[in-house]
Amino acid sequence: MNQLCICILVEEACSGGGWRASAREKQKRREQAISKRSLAHYLNKFYGCPKDRCNLMVLKDTLKKMQKFFALPETGDIDQKTVEIMKKPRCGVPDVANYNFFHRKPKWGQKNITYRILGHTPDLDEETIDDAFFRAFKVWSDVTPLKFNRIMDGEADIMINFGRNEHGDGYPFDGKDGLLAHAFAPGPGIGGDSHFDDDELWTLGEGQVVKVKYGNAEGEFCKFPFLFMGKEYTSCTSQGRDDGFLWCSTTYNFDEDGKYGFCPHELLFTLDGNADGAPCKFPFTFQGEKYDSCTTSGRDDGYRWCATTEDYDRDKTYGFCPETAMSTVGGNSEGAPCVFPFKFLGNTYDSCTTSGRSDGKMWCAVTKSFDDDRKWGFCPDQGYSLFLVAAHEFGHALGLEHSEDTGALMAPIYTFTKTLRLSDDDVKGIQELYGVSTDKPLPTDLPPVTPMDVCNENIIFDAVAQIRGEIFFFKDR
Ligand SMILES: [Zn+2]
Ligand SMILES: [Zn+2]
Repeated sequence: MNQLCICILVEEACSGGGWRASAREKQKRREQAISKRSLAHYLNKFYGCPKDRCNLMVLKDTLKKMQKFFALPETGDIDQKTVEIMKKPRCGVPDVANYNFFHRKPKWGQKNITYRILGHTPDLDEETIDDAFFRAFKVWSDVTPLKFNRIMDGEADIMINFGRNEHGDGYPFDGKDGLLAHAFAPGPGIGGDSHFDDDELWTLGEGQVVKVKYGNAEGEFCKFPFLFMGKEYTSCTSQGRDDGFLWCSTTYNFDEDGKYGFCPHELLFTLDGNADGAPCKFPFTFQGEKYDSCTTSGRDDGYRWCATTEDYDRDKTYGFCPETAMSTVGGNSEGAPCVFPFKFLGNTYDSCTTSGRSDGKMWCAVTKSFDDDRKWGFCPDQGYSLFLVAAHEFGHALGLEHSEDTGALMAPIYTFTKTLRLSDDDVKGIQELYGVSTDKPLPTDLPPVTPMDVCNENIIFDAVAQIRGEIFFFKDR
C-alpha cells in the first residue's frame, strides 16, 4: 500500500492516446479489484466477515452492517462513501461486539488500576508522552470512581507500548495511517494492554512537537512558524549556522526575542540505550562494519540506533537516535531524515513532493538519489494526537466497545479536536461499567459561549455543528 506509484507515472508519460485509454480502463479495473480485496479485508477485520468465505451474499450482508454502523444507506454496494470511510485513519479494534477482542462485557474488578509505559516513541520527548497518557487516563477517572497509578516495573494491568507491523500479539499494524492503535479488553495477561503504531507520526495533533536542547531555551518547545531575519520558518533550520545543526526559535519573533535551542539530533544526544544519552559517534564499528549514520542493523523492530564510541564491538555502548526535524515517517527507511536535493525519475527535488503518488501524500528520498537507492519516507504532517488516540484506546482497556455515536470519543475513526469532551454515550458506557464518580465534583468546564457567538445566530448554529464535527472521533460528516 505504501509504495510509490511510479508505474502509473511512467505509464502516463510513455503512452500514446489510444493506448492510454485502454491503460486507464485497465487501471480502473485494477482499482476496482483492489477495493474489493481491501473491502473484504476491512469487513473481515472489523465486522467478522469470515476470511475464506467473505464473498457474494456474506460480503453484502456484512457490508450492510458496516454501512449501518456509519449511518450510511444500507445498500450492500461498494459506493464512494463506503470507500472513503474505509480509507480513514482508525482504531484497530473491531466495530462489532462478540467478535474477536470483546466476548462478554469484561471489566476490571478493582477501582485502582495500574499502568506501565514500556516504550516511548522517538517522535516526542518522554515528558510529553507521559503527560499525554496521564491526561488520557484522567478523561476516564474524572467521570468514574476509578484511579490510575503508574508503576515503573513489574506487571501492570495496562501495559502500554509502541510497535511497528507485527509486534508480538498477532494483530499487526500497517505502516503510516490506516490503523493507528489498538487495545485489549480488561483481563489478565494481555488484557488491558494498549499498543500504538510507531509508523505514525505522534504529535499532539497539530504538527511536530519539538523540545529543544541547549541554546538559551533548553526544554522549551519550538514555535512554528517563527520569524528569523524577516523570514518565516515552519520547521527547524540550519540557516544562520555553519555547523549544520538544526535549531528553532521558541517564540514567534526570534529577531526580537532571541530565544532558541537546538532541535533533536543524534549528534547532540541519544535516547534510552546504555550510554546515558551520550551523542552518536560517527563512524562507528559494529560487527566489523563501519557506519556513518544511525542504523537499524542487528535489530528487528526497525528502531534506529548508533554507538556512542567509535567501536561498538569493543565498548558496547549505544543509544537510540531521536527523530530529527526532517525525519521521515513510514516508508522503507525507518525514520531516516530527508536528503535534499534528491533525484527522482531524473528530476531534482529541493523539498518534499507528491510526485509519483496518486494519494497526494508528501514524501522525500533519504539518499541523494531515489532512482539508485529507492530509499524513502513520508514527510512530517500534522500527525496524530497521542492524547486523543490514547484516551480512545484506554476506553477499550476499560471495557468499552466502539460507539455508533458520531460525536463519541469511542467512535472508531480518528478526528482531531483541540478540546476533548466526552459524549453522553461515552459517559453512559463507562458509568454502566464502573458507576458514577463519588468523591469528585461534577465537571463544570462547559465551554463558555463567547459574546460574538451570541450576537450572530448563524455562527451559533455553525459553531454547534462544528463542535459535533470536530470535537471527537467520528465518521464522515
Ligand atoms: Zn477503538
Ligand atoms: Zn498490538
